[in-house]
Amino acid sequence: MFGAVFALIFYSSVLLFVVIRHIRHRDELDRWLQTSELDVSTIPDGGSGTWGDLFASLARFVRAHSQSQQRLSLALQRMQSATSAMPEGVVILDDDDRIEWCNPMAEKHLGITLEVDAEQQITYLVRDLQFVDYLAARDYSHPLVLKQSRHHKLILSLQLVPYGAKQKLLISRDITRFENIEIMRRDFIANISHELRTPLTVIIGFLETLSEENNVDAEMNKQALALMNDQSMRMLRLIEDLLTLSRLESTPNLLGEKHIDVQVMLNDLYHEAESLSAGRHVIKLNSVPETQLLGNEDELRSAFGNLVSNAIRYTPDEGEVTLSWQISNGQGVFSVQDSGIGIDRKHIPRLTERFYRVDSSRSRETGGTGLGLAIVKHVLNRHQAQLKIESKAGGGSCFKVLFPENRIVSKI
Ligand code: ADP
Repeated sequence: MFGAVFALIFYSSVLLFVVIRHIRHRDELDRWLQTSELDVSTIPDGGSGTWGDLFASLARFVRAHSQSQQRLSLALQRMQSATSAMPEGVVILDDDDRIEWCNPMAEKHLGITLEVDAEQQITYLVRDLQFVDYLAARDYSHPLVLKQSRHHKLILSLQLVPYGAKQKLLISRDITRFENIEIMRRDFIANISHELRTPLTVIIGFLETLSEENNVDAEMNKQALALMNDQSMRMLRLIEDLLTLSRLESTPNLLGEKHIDVQVMLNDLYHEAESLSAGRHVIKLNSVPETQLLGNEDELRSAFGNLVSNAIRYTPDEGEVTLSWQISNGQGVFSVQDSGIGIDRKHIPRLTERFYRVDSSRSRETGGTGLGLAIVKHVLNRHQAQLKIESKAGGGSCFKVLFPENRIVSKI
């Protein structure tokens, strides 16, 4: 009897001990789950047995979980630094078109700041009506070209790309340069068409007169042929200048460089100037220090020739045109000074643009194509040289070309 009671007490105590142990471990687990942020070092020690195995498995799970968390956050960091380096702007929008995230380029393009504008409706920040319509239309097969963004004078291409459940990516690209090139291309074609059309209209008019049956006035016919010849030459000059420009643009590197004797070249230019002026102006050539200039002779002759011919064309009879070459602070300086009609200050920055003319009728009357200074600028760029224009309306002009030291071989 005593033995049975003792055994009962013993088993009850063991059972109690086991139950208390279970309750203690369960409380430890509960406390850990509530307080710990999945920190493996705070996982209770379950000792040996079931709880020991359970806590060991838990530690393994937490370790694996934190490793995968680290991998995820590394991948996220990599993704963020990659999108930050992208030349495109990227904005993540939620279902209601609110900003979830954006990269620095999108901040720049759209004039938004992630810190301040997160969770704001994108249409509240990019208020352009075209954009609002584009977003609402939900047809994102084509990008939208936005001409005026809120900040800067950028031209943007905006493309929405739906992804995930209901999110959208808004991708912005700065296409200002391409659009400007496109505008230049359109203007250029319009200008050429206009330049060719005018002489052609004159020629066609004369051809009609000449082909009339009752046309017998020999003197008038002679004049008509002379004028047709002038107009044809004008078209030829234009086409030659266009071909020169296209050659300069299509061969990006300077070919056929050699040492050019500047004295010889300036002497030739001086004689060309005299024949162009045909005694109407006083042409001077200042003494030229013996120098050799490294460059492409044909290109430089054509550029200098353009400056000389301009000086004569824009200087009234009896005026003076002076050519000179100097070495100043190691640089070679070619200059053409004239006492001509001069140029108002406001026109000077635009003179090297194609077809830019201060006085179109004077330019055409004197055989100008409006491309001379554009050719000069191209040639000088290829020689790392600079064009400096000093002029004022009615006060003559001085066109200077400055060559860098490494292109000059001075004999003195
Ligand atoms: P163009 O064939 O019309 O002369 P350019 O490109 O050579 O074309 O020159 C552009 C414009 O610059 C000219 O139309 C003219 O108005 C002005 N220009 C150029 N050189 C001179 C100059 N020496 N004096 C006054 N105006 C000039």
